[in-house]
Amino acid sequence: MWFFSDEHKMLQQTVRQFSATALAPKIEKLDAEEGFNRESFYKMGELGLLGIIVPEDDGGTGLDAVAATLAMEEMGAVDASTALSYLAHTILCVNQIAKNASKEQKERYLPKLISGEWIGGMGMTEPGSGSDALGMKTKAVKKGDSYVLNGTKTFITNGPGGDIFYCYAKTGESKKEMSSFIVQTGTPGFSTGKKFSKMGMRASPTGELVFEDCTLSKANRVGEENSSVKHMMRNLDIERITISGISLGIARASIEVATQYAKDRKQFGKPIGVFQQIQERLTEAAAWYEGCRALTYQAAKMWDLGLMVGREASMMAAKAKLQSAQMATQVALDAIQILGGYGYIREFPVERYMRDAKLIEIGAGTNEILRVIIAKQMLGEAAGE
Ligand SMILES: Cc1cc2nc3c(=O)[nH]c(=O)nc-3n(C[C@H](O)[C@H](O)[C@H](O)COP(=O)(O)OP(=O)(O)OC[C@H]3O[C@@H](n4cnc5c(N)ncnc54)[C@H](O)[C@@H]3O)c2cc1C
Repeated sequence: MWFFSDEHKMLQQTVRQFSATALAPKIEKLDAEEGFNRESFYKMGELGLLGIIVPEDDGGTGLDAVAATLAMEEMGAVDASTALSYLAHTILCVNQIAKNASKEQKERYLPKLISGEWIGGMGMTEPGSGSDALGMKTKAVKKGDSYVLNGTKTFITNGPGGDIFYCYAKTGESKKEMSSFIVQTGTPGFSTGKKFSKMGMRASPTGELVFEDCTLSKANRVGEENSSVKHMMRNLDIERITISGISLGIARASIEVATQYAKDRKQFGKPIGVFQQIQERLTEAAAWYEGCRALTYQAAKMWDLGLMVGREASMMAAKAKLQSAQMATQVALDAIQILGGYGYIREFPVERYMRDAKLIEIGAGTNEILRVIIAKQMLGEAAGE
């Protein structure tokens, strides 16, 4: 993008190189076996990627949302699973602690999360409340200077094997009475439940977080009691912008593989790229990808400049993710079609790209919920409930 700084361009090269050496050689096997590239997190720590948008005063790299989106795009083009785990760690856990926690909490948790010694995640979704996040049932009941938590979070990225979780729980009866807690694996009454087997993003572990009379000290609560809805919503906006980077990466990789294949593969004595129907798929994919790239980085840049506040921020983030996520799934499907039978078997990566791309139409707000957000902004009361 024309507004990338020299620092952004350097970061892009660094993450491209990291992805080629630390992610590419491992992803096929990890995808097949549903493993996790744990070592890559130590390397990301060394490269300063884990605290990418944390201010330098808090031990981070002090970069911005454009930089985080770039990192997602570069990793997403090679290994979307690790990019997703990176997002959960960096944007959903580390960034939330940096933005909302006290000095003591930052000193206790950030250094090991930023170095990669600890893996972080975020617990919002529950078995009975996904899109309706405020309908969560996990409760934190105050007892003196402590809270007793009961409930289950589900579909949590980095749940299995994770160390630190930024979790939301109800601290009152109304939907808005919600507080955030930092929970560490090993705390009595807290367990990471079962690991799910998935269609895509298979090298990003997903599982449950279970609270059974789990007692947490007041020192684990982040911010004031009942103050977390605002934090949660603001974080969803930056999550939606940066996760769109993963969609962009998947689409770019799909287009690269399909373009090369269209040049190499011959049928009827000619490269299949001469056929107009193949050209139509490739050109539509390239144009849609560029449009989504412009929209996503525009949203990230506006976020960084503080030009988006409240509903406006939510709408831009929703538009960027709604388009990028759908685009990546369709572009990966088109790549499979261009490769024919070779697209459907695992010797080429495009079938993995499609399986991974689909997740981004569901996680961090489904396509339907994003349309609801945009419709409310456009239509106001005429959008209904
Ligand atoms: C691999 C993976 C990783 C994830 N990681 C995390 C994580 O780290 N932390 C976390 O907290 N969560 C995580 N999630 C959860 C994710 O955010 C939810 O799955 C998502 O918000 C949708 O919730 P749900 O699955 O309960 O679907 P539901 O909310 O039950 O939705 C089911 C269907 O109904 C539609 N629907 C619901 N409400 C409306 C409406 N008002 N209008 C129109 N349609 C509607 C939905 O769009 C969807 O099509 C993850 C999910 C997956 C699959």
